[in-house]
Amino acid sequence: MRTVPLPVVRPEFMLEPAFDPNRDAGSSRDAIGLGARSAGKALDVRHGTILSLEDISVSFDGFKALNALNLYIGVGELRCIIGPNGAGKTTLMDVITGKTRPSHGKAWFGETLDLASMSEVQIAQAGIGRKFQKPTVFEALTVFENLELAQKADKSVWASLGARLRGEQKERIDEVLETIRLTSTQHRQAGLLSHGQKQFLEIGMLLMQDPQLLLLDEPVAGMTDAETEFTAELFRGLAGKHSLMVVEHDMGFVGSIADHVTVLHQGSVLAEGSLEQVQADDRVIEVYLGR
Ligand code: ADP
Ligand code: MG
Repeated sequence: MRTVPLPVVRPEFMLEPAFDPNRDAGSSRDAIGLGARSAGKALDVRHGTILSLEDISVSFDGFKALNALNLYIGVGELRCIIGPNGAGKTTLMDVITGKTRPSHGKAWFGETLDLASMSEVQIAQAGIGRKFQKPTVFEALTVFENLELAQKADKSVWASLGARLRGEQKERIDEVLETIRLTSTQHRQAGLLSHGQKQFLEIGMLLMQDPQLLLLDEPVAGMTDAETEFTAELFRGLAGKHSLMVVEHDMGFVGSIADHVTVLHQGSVLAEGSLEQVQADDRVIEVYLGR
C-alpha cells in the first residue's frame, strides 16, 4: 500500500504511453451512443495500482458520507467492499465514476488520471465500468442485440478498420456470450430472461467495452444459489484480466470470491484483510452486531 501521496501530474505527462501492455482502455456502457472510445488512451499502472483514493471526503449538507477515506485497488485484484447500510459504499462508487464529486481528497485511476477532473463519460471511456444493482438491459431486444448495442460505442473505430472486422465483432460477442453462459439464449428477448440471466447479460454488456476496472453493486442480490455460484465463478475468471470492486452483503459469496475485503463504516475504512481476518476484528463485530 502506498503511503506517500502522489504528486499532481503535469498535463503533458498524461499523454505518455503506458509502460505495460495493459492498454486500450474501453468505455463502459454508460457511454453508449456518446461516440468512440478515446483514441490512444492508455492507463499507466506501472506501480501495480489501478485505483488510489486518498483522504476522500464527501459531505451532504455537513454530513460526511465519506470521511477521509483511503483505499487502493491493485491491478487485476478482486476486492470486496462490505459494511452496514449507510456506510458509504454507494457513495464510494459514485465518487469513482464521477457522479459525486469529493469535497476533499484525490482519486487517481492508474498513476496519472485524476478522476476529479474528468466527466462521467470520460471516466467510463477511460475504462471504468459500473453495474448498478438493478439490471438495466434493453428488454425488447434479444440477448445478442443487447451485446451488439454495447459494442456500438466503438463504431467509428470498427468502421475505419473495414468489413473484415465485422467477423471479429461477431467473434467477440460469441466469446462474451460464452463467458456469461447465454449462448443458447442469444436470440431470446432480454425481457424474457430470469433475473439472474439479466444480471449476466448486463455484465456481458460491460465486458463488450473491455473495462479495466469493474464496479459491481450487490451483484447477487435476488439470485438463486446456482446463479450465485456461477457469478462467483465468473468473477474469479474475470479477475486478473480486469480489476473488480464488488459491494456485497452475502458473506458466503464474499468468502467464495475475495482474497481481500474492505469494511466500510461511517464513511471510513474500518478494517481490511481476508474475510476471516475482518470477521474476527472486534470493531467489525461491534459494527455488525450492534453495541
Ligand atoms: P451504503 O451504500 O453503504 O448503504 P450510501 O453511500 O448510500 O451508503 O450512504 C451513505 C450515507 O450518506 C447515508 O447516511 C446516506 O443517507 C447519505 N447520503 C447518500 N447520498 C446522499 C445524498 N445525495 N444526500 C444526502 N445524504 C446522502
Ligand atoms: Mg448502497
